[in-house]
Amino acid sequence: RRWGWNIAGELRQAAARDPDRAAVVDEQGTRLTYAELLDRSERLARGMRTALGVRPGDRVGVLCRNHHGPVETIVAATLLGADAVLVNTGLSAGQLATVAQEQRLRVLAHDAEFADRVANLPAEVQRLDERAREALVVGAVPGELRPPERDGRIIVLTSGTTGAPKGARRPTPNGFGPLVSIIDRIPLHARDTVMIAAPLFHTWGYAALQVCFALRATVVLHRRFDPAATLAALVAQRCDALFAVPVMLQRLLEVPPPDPRPPLKVVAVSGSALPGGLALRFMDVYGDVLHNLYGSTEVSWASIAGPADLRAAPTTAGRAPHGTRLAILDAAGEPVPAGQVGRIFVGNEMLFEGYTSGAAREHRGGLLDTGDLGRLDAGGLLFVDGRADDMIVSGGENVFPAEVEDLIARLPQVREAAVIGVPDQEYGQRLAAFLALHPGETLDPEAVREYVRHYLARFSVPRDVVFVKYLPRNATGKVLARELRRYYG
Ligand code: ATP
Repeated sequence: RRWGWNIAGELRQAAARDPDRAAVVDEQGTRLTYAELLDRSERLARGMRTALGVRPGDRVGVLCRNHHGPVETIVAATLLGADAVLVNTGLSAGQLATVAQEQRLRVLAHDAEFADRVANLPAEVQRLDERAREALVVGAVPGELRPPERDGRIIVLTSGTTGAPKGARRPTPNGFGPLVSIIDRIPLHARDTVMIAAPLFHTWGYAALQVCFALRATVVLHRRFDPAATLAALVAQRCDALFAVPVMLQRLLEVPPPDPRPPLKVVAVSGSALPGGLALRFMDVYGDVLHNLYGSTEVSWASIAGPADLRAAPTTAGRAPHGTRLAILDAAGEPVPAGQVGRIFVGNEMLFEGYTSGAAREHRGGLLDTGDLGRLDAGGLLFVDGRADDMIVSGGENVFPAEVEDLIARLPQVREAAVIGVPDQEYGQRLAAFLALHPGETLDPEAVREYVRHYLARFSVPRDVVFVKYLPRNATGKVLARELRRYYG
């Protein structure tokens, strides 16, 4: 048997071609070359096999922030033919217990800070904290690692913003799907230095890591996203690229920009909608380097907007990259004309291979239903209106929260905005806008309504305007609408 082509295979290849190139750098000063990262991962694999009895087909959970530890654990699991289950760090103790049981985890590797949350896991789940992991690496027993009888896979847990977290099987990579589609539109190069600020447990962060291994890039990781520390690292490490989630751009703009600016060629965001006003403000400060990727756990990414697209149409999600097909279909499965809203279907080599629960997603002609609504303009640019489930029907009219949010967020006083539908006796649903203002700012609710009325139809005007300190968000920066609904009891 040969070694399969998965994240471990990618690291093996990078280590063979560029052993002395720095692979991972973190804020604690750890700097590992590709050869060292592979060596540590192999040692960890041998340790997990001997000390924890990890076998092909077992599942190893990874509950970690961004540092070299989860990278080594993911690689070690797949070297053994086990599956790595990437767990969202935002899950509660109760959700973790359910996940551990449903995913039949043999091991849960976790950061020290999560010790309390995993204290009451079922007894059959072995916990591997950071110290124990390091002990396995340092004290690894000698022994050979042979290609396992099955290839280890990656399972990403959804964040559960729309229900209980689901395990989604990442595709068996054919090697270059993610890489080719990304470099088709984004100017990344072999041996670049890339800061991955998006969480590694999320599809975007994980796929970014795969792309970096394929490029033999140096990956800069910080455990927590801190805007000032991020900017300092971008300068100090001379990063070529930053991979983030949209809300991080907002946070970066809230601290003074370094002078001179970091030498960034690329900033790429994905995971939730990028507000148009934010895209423009970011480029005004950090240059025309911004790329917006529309994607999900299920499709990885399906379209990419570059800086010129965003300058021309700030809310666009761009175009399908090489190897991806995009279609906007109506309820009967027929393509809708340009400019009309329909359901977004996607086909590419990066589609997930099903949920671990066995639940399915609808396909049509080889394309997967994203659950999102959107439209293609005459020039082929994609505009994502939002999740079909989030669409608000008020007095019989359809309203997409993102459009109203985007508009309100352009008011200079507003730091961030979220819009939800709340039950209404007269209209079925009415719009409620939640606004977090910049420090020291005030706004009159009627002025907000007046402003929206000026640009959008009457039914898009939020009747309720609620001021909050900050918006509740999940670990990837998505606003938690269910938390906002609690306001209404
Ligand atoms: P859950 O499915 O439980 O919410 P999650 O938050 O992990 O879990 P993802 O699969 O990461 O879910 O979310 C993908 C969704 O985020 C897309 O279907 C789309 O609605 C939205 N999204 C992601 N990127 C963009 C983008 N660039 N523009 C607009 N919307 C986006």
